[in-house]
Formats: sequence, structure tokens, C-alpha cells
Amino acid sequence: MTETIQQTGAAEGADTAEPEPVASSGGLLVLAALRIEASAVRRGLREASSRVQRTGMGATRARKWVKESQPSPFGAMVVMGTAAGLTDDLSPGDLVVATEVSDGTATVTLPGADLLAAELRRAGLPAHAGRLVTVPKVVKPADRARLAADGYLAADMESATLVGAAADRPVAVIRAVSDAGFGPGMVSGGLAALRSLRLAARVAERWAAACAERAVLLAGPRSFCAGVERAIEIVERALDLRGAPVYVRKQIVHNTRVVSDLEQRGAVFVDELDEVPDGATVVFSAHGVSPAVRSAAADRGLSVIDATCPLVSKVHAEARRFAREGYTVALIGHAGHEEVEGTLGEAPESTVLVQTVDDVASLSPSDPSKVAYLMQTTLAVDEAADVSGALRERFPQMRAPGSDDICYATTNRQAAVRAVATDADLVLVAGSKNSSNSVRLVERSQRAGTPAYLIDGASDIELSWLSGVSVVGLTAGASAPPAVVDEIITALSGFGAVTVTERITTTESVQFGLPREVRR
Ligand code: SF4
Repeated sequence: MTETIQQTGAAEGADTAEPEPVASSGGLLVLAALRIEASAVRRGLREASSRVQRTGMGATRARKWVKESQPSPFGAMVVMGTAAGLTDDLSPGDLVVATEVSDGTATVTLPGADLLAAELRRAGLPAHAGRLVTVPKVVKPADRARLAADGYLAADMESATLVGAAADRPVAVIRAVSDAGFGPGMVSGGLAALRSLRLAARVAERWAAACAERAVLLAGPRSFCAGVERAIEIVERALDLRGAPVYVRKQIVHNTRVVSDLEQRGAVFVDELDEVPDGATVVFSAHGVSPAVRSAAADRGLSVIDATCPLVSKVHAEARRFAREGYTVALIGHAGHEEVEGTLGEAPESTVLVQTVDDVASLSPSDPSKVAYLMQTTLAVDEAADVSGALRERFPQMRAPGSDDICYATTNRQAAVRAVATDADLVLVAGSKNSSNSVRLVERSQRAGTPAYLIDGASDIELSWLSGVSVVGLTAGASAPPAVVDEIITALSGFGAVTVTERITTTESVQFGLPREVRR
């Protein structure tokens, strides 16, 4: 699959072999309506190639400037200036990065605004991403309420016109709130706004330096596995069939987006069962639980729906079997991970956690001829093999699980990210910090020699990561929604044309049935 995404203009001509840094082909051009705005921005700029041009106040002057001015070549453009804040949560000096600008008839979408707003926040500035409206006249209080009700965050008098001057080059809009309207308060809020514009100018330069045409190499497979899809569907169906609230012990899967979406639909996530009211429905997460948790739920009379991934349940069954047969079970995994805690709980007297090769030396099983090993399902394939190899060396008669414990989804995603990391300058992994399999994808890429970062969404991308990067490898952990990958590609298209190619190393067709409690 190859697809080109451009912020504006046509896709033809995108050269994925040698993407050209946009900013280096002319630097940053800042457009500001007023002399004091231009002056504030100018004082914040540091790069010799950055320029500020004043366009004059209001849409008429902006239109004239766009029509008649012939700015010297530039690589990326930022419209900067003050604005009227429309919502009560904005204060003078707050920055608004436009996700779109509209003059009421035409709307221009500006991808990557969330990312730029997050970078401004990292620089210590109060920044928000939101919709900006360009109005013909000074905003009156009545207009303010109406525009806010229409979903706009701020209003100015030029941006919708000025963004057209960028043509097919990257463009962003950063406005500083001077007051809640172009009225008397503008004077008192003006200083705060001008200060913010000055400080934001440096970030605008970093944004321009990150602008370039890029190739995105998508790893396939990526994102949701069958166990995660099943777990999410179980909660959704429980909510449909039993109504909110439905309690979920621990995060249903380790992803903040998934958890927050389900919370909005009525799921209540708790750490332990004592937070669940008597008689309520509780779902056990995909990572599984120990028998002690199951009995506690039964003792409380809770209505349990088990979303444990069948591949985790398989490891639990193996732990029970080996323990029953008198084996010491070496469980290769990470301390504190919920899946590991659940598996350890199956046979606590017979199971020992082994995290590293070094841990193997300290094992002291009662009968060295009766050792078996099991694994957490989401380990790094190579590292887990090192540990099981060390165990085999020390206990040659060691029993192994009937089939691999590291699941198909973990194995496939690691192979897929390796295939893109070797050809990428940077790898982005969509996933949450507590997602074991997502963290392993970052480590896998780094071991291939490519810088890699774990991000929950596009706004976690730091501008410095993109500097000098032509090819971005992109994947998502098994618990990260596919929509996050689309969001990241869209955000990258805000920096210049993006050509997307998918590199599929294998296809997956695994599906798991649902528990009877939620079958319709
Ligand atoms: S990553 Fe593997 S073990 Fe975990 S839920 Fe997905 S399929 Fe199941």
C-alpha cells in the first residue's frame, strides 16, 4: 500500500527517496498583522533565515497583502498575532494553535496543531489547540458567546486569509489571547499576549526546522490483537446488556485511549475488588487474575465476566499442570506486571520469577531434575530466548511449555517493527507506557540501531525527534487503537507531504470467542 498525504495541494512529485527539508529551502516566514506583534515575534527569533512580514490589520489588508506581496522564498509559514479568546478557560497570554481556520464560509484544516501546542507547553507556555475563526469586525460580547457555542476557541481578523499565502508549503497559526474581545481589556492583556508571542517565536522556528517531506513506513501487523479486541468487546457488550456502570478490575488493556473511551461509556476501572459494590458486575482484564482474586469475587457474590486473553489462560493452565506434577516453574517475565502476578498466583509455592539471565544462577529448586519454564506472553523474543537458554544450560532436563508462551501478536509485531526499523531514521510506536508489548517494540527498534519513541498520540511527538528525519517507521502495540496510527500520519502531514508505504511481514487471522455472559 502506498499513499501520499499532503497538507495542501496535490500529491504529485513527492520524492520519497530524498525528501527535502522544507525549512532549509527558504526558512521560516512569520506573518503578523500589527507592527507591535511583528516586533514581539522578531525579538524572539534566533535563526538568520527566519523573517517576519507585517500584513496590516483586518481581512481587507490581509487579502491585499496575499494578492500583491511577493515574499522572498520561504520553506514554512506561521501566522502569529493576538486574538480574542472566546471561552472562559482562556486567559490573556494563553496561546491558541489553530486546528483549523475558518472565515465562516471556507475552512482550512491545519494538521499537527496538537503536536505544536504540546511543544509550546513543553516550553513552559500555556497553549491550547482548537478552532480559530476569522471575523470581519471586532468581536462583541454577544458574538463571543455565539462563536464559542459554534466550537471556536479564539477569533482574529486575518488568519483565514493569510494561510492561503503558504500555497502548498507547511503552515501553522499561533495566536496569543490578548483579552476576551477587541475591547478595553485588550490593553491590559496585550502585554501578556506580546510576551507569549515573543517566547513562542523560538518554538515556531523549531517547528519550521522539523518541516520536511517524509516517507512513513508502516509496520504490518500492528495495533490490536485478537485478545485485546475480545476484551474491549466484552466490556462494550457488558455495558449494552447490563447497563452502566460496569466495573473493570485494572485497565482492561494497557492503553489510555481505550480506557478513557470505555470510561466515557460507563465503565469504571478499579484497582481492587473492594472498590466494587456488592452485587455489581466486574470484568477481569485481558491480563488475567490469580485464583485468589477469583475466590474473592465469588465470596463477595460479584457477577464476574472474564476477559482474560485465552493465550494468557493457556499459560495459567500450564503453571497448574507443572505444579501438579511436582515441577518448580521458572516464570520468565517482568516483576509487577499484572499478567505475571496472575500466573504466579496459580501455584505460588512452586513458581519462581526469573527476569534476567543473572537470575538463573540464584535458582535453587528442590529437585533440579524437575524444573519447567513458562513465559509472560509479551516478552522480547530474543531476550526471553537468552533467559530460557541459560535455564536449559543449568537444567538440561528442563520441561518447556507445549507451545510458545510469547503470543503470536507479540512475535509478529516485533518482526514487523524490525523490518521497518532497518530502513527508518526514526521509529514511532503508538502505545501506552505500561504496555509491555509496546515497550518491547521500542526496544526492538533501538536494538536495530534506530532511535525509537513510545507515544500515546501525535501530541507526544517532540519536534527535535523529527529534525533530519526523512523516513519514519510507524507501528502500534497490540493494545493501541488503529485510529492513533491514522492520527500520527495526519499530524506528520502538517510538516510536509507524507508518502505512506506499508511493509507487511505476515498477516493475522486469529479470533477468539466471547464468554457466554456476553453472547447475544
Ligand atoms: S498480546 Fe497476545 S496474550 Fe496479550 S491479549 Fe494480545 S493475543 Fe493475548
